[in-house]
Amino acid sequence: MGAPGSGKGTQSAWLSTRLGLPALSIGDMLRAEAKEDTPAGLRLREILASGALVDDETVCEAVAARLWRELRRNGIILDGFPRTLKQADHLDRVLTEMKMLGDAGQRPTVLHLDVSRERLLERLTARRQCAVCGEIYNLVSKPSRAGARCEKDGGELLQRSDDSESVILRRLVEFEAWCAPVIDYYRNRNYHRIDGDRDPEAVSRDLLRIVRPLRSRAAA
Ligand SMILES: [Zn+2]
Repeated sequence: MGAPGSGKGTQSAWLSTRLGLPALSIGDMLRAEAKEDTPAGLRLREILASGALVDDETVCEAVAARLWRELRRNGIILDGFPRTLKQADHLDRVLTEMKMLGDAGQRPTVLHLDVSRERLLERLTARRQCAVCGEIYNLVSKPSRAGARCEKDGGELLQRSDDSESVILRRLVEFEAWCAPVIDYYRNRNYHRIDGDRDPEAVSRDLLRIVRPLRSRAAA
């Protein structure tokens, strides 16, 4: 878990490759659904553009379907879920139904990328996304070698409608409000706070140090 702009998307993709685990980005999943011209897609589009959080029921339904389809003995990386108490409770229930919550050692491992608000604003207002392939660039930390175009396909780089400064501030404030009880919920379990103000490589090293022993235990 981590605020928008905490780098959790980048880190979960990196961990996914490194550990051979599937990674599920809830944000990407919802954004893909919002492109559909269905009543649900239309409703999602409005919610996302306003910067509000998508309601628990919608998120839980979508995640549960993916877990049943993709989560096997190996595990999965969930990026952006659970971020409310209701979602955390729902995750426990789905995992119990799947018989994946046994002893305490099998509880989900919670990795919290904690980044200061100043750093988040700095990163988010500089974020650009390719209109064609969806690749994320950053004017400061990850500029495109093709200037204002995507390196891969020449697509136009746009600021996402949920990345304007007022929308970002609102998302950060909402995130902090929602996230506090979830952190409390997990605090005495497999909870790890990681200082996300450092460079991505240092963060990756910390994550790997925590997750690698779990992987060997699962394989044994
Ligand atoms: Zn592209």
